[in-house]
Amino acid sequence: MTDQSNPSGLSRRNLLAGLAAAPIVTASAEPSLAQIAPAKTAAQKAQAALKNAGGTKLVLLGTSAGPVPTFPGRTRHMTSHVMVSNGTAYVLDCGLGVTNEYARTGLSFHALKNIFITHHHPDHNCEYAPLLLIGWVSGMPLTVRAFGPPPLKEMTEDLLKAYKQTIEFWAEDFHIKPLTAIEVKEIAGAGPVMQDDNVKVSSIVVNHPPVKPALGYRFDFKDRSIAFSGDTTPLEAVAHMAKGADVLVHEAMYVPAIEKYLHARIAKGFPVKFDAFMAHMKADHSAVEDVGRIAQEAGVKTLVLSHLTPGIDTISDDTWRAPAAKYFKGEIIVGHDLMVI
Ligand SMILES: [Zn+2]
Ligand SMILES: [Zn+2]
Repeated sequence: MTDQSNPSGLSRRNLLAGLAAAPIVTASAEPSLAQIAPAKTAAQKAQAALKNAGGTKLVLLGTSAGPVPTFPGRTRHMTSHVMVSNGTAYVLDCGLGVTNEYARTGLSFHALKNIFITHHHPDHNCEYAPLLLIGWVSGMPLTVRAFGPPPLKEMTEDLLKAYKQTIEFWAEDFHIKPLTAIEVKEIAGAGPVMQDDNVKVSSIVVNHPPVKPALGYRFDFKDRSIAFSGDTTPLEAVAHMAKGADVLVHEAMYVPAIEKYLHARIAKGFPVKFDAFMAHMKADHSAVEDVGRIAQEAGVKTLVLSHLTPGIDTISDDTWRAPAAKYFKGEIIVGHDLMVI
């Protein structure tokens, strides 16, 4: 006998049993709880490390290269970092994920006073506008400043114009001052960028065609210095800039894994031609062994491998570390999101 209220003909008991057996989510669409757990631990670890921080800290917010969303098998977000010194936050690059990852560190948006962009590839700037908008309604000071290559000023003005209506709605809803303008300093070349009570920042021009200029930065805080290669081929100028720094964060690619990874991505719809993409990688980026050479030449204490290509989880830390360790004799850290250094 069937349940008359159930046109499918299934009995209520069978229906409930079926529901209990059915997966809550499909395996391909959502991560399992086991996959979510480590990320939560990383956030908790970052919060604890920042709470107990005695000096300047660097947090890797996103450690993957390229405009690649966090597909299954990836835990790394696009490139972004935050440095925290004396209660002030300095964000470097705004790849997709920067706003959430910043929030997950537990840092207040009140602290966010400076944003730096290395270059205008989307994996470094595509979440610039969302960071400003969500930062603004989360307490970011209206005096926040942005630094980066031209046309950052025009981009900022255009973005605020595009979101003018949205900003005005929220300003009215929440009775807060609207975000109407941001102070932008365009950095067209090498030299001093800014200085405040905590840090002196300088830039170099790196080699990342056709992007011009693409920048590397060095942050000299009172207690430590942190240099960033930005996106570049192995470059003497990076070793020179990073000379004697405590930390060098350098982009890195693991060439043996790139071809296989690229074939798999193209099969899933990545709209590039294999040869053209590989030519771009060679003309624009640094193999991890060359990164070891640059770090050794610079004489830094710690090398952080980040902006990883491919930024997939199946390449072990030891695999990443070994080619650099052939040349660099200091500490090598393989970057993972929310790592505090
Ligand atoms: Zn990049
Ligand atoms: Zn780039």
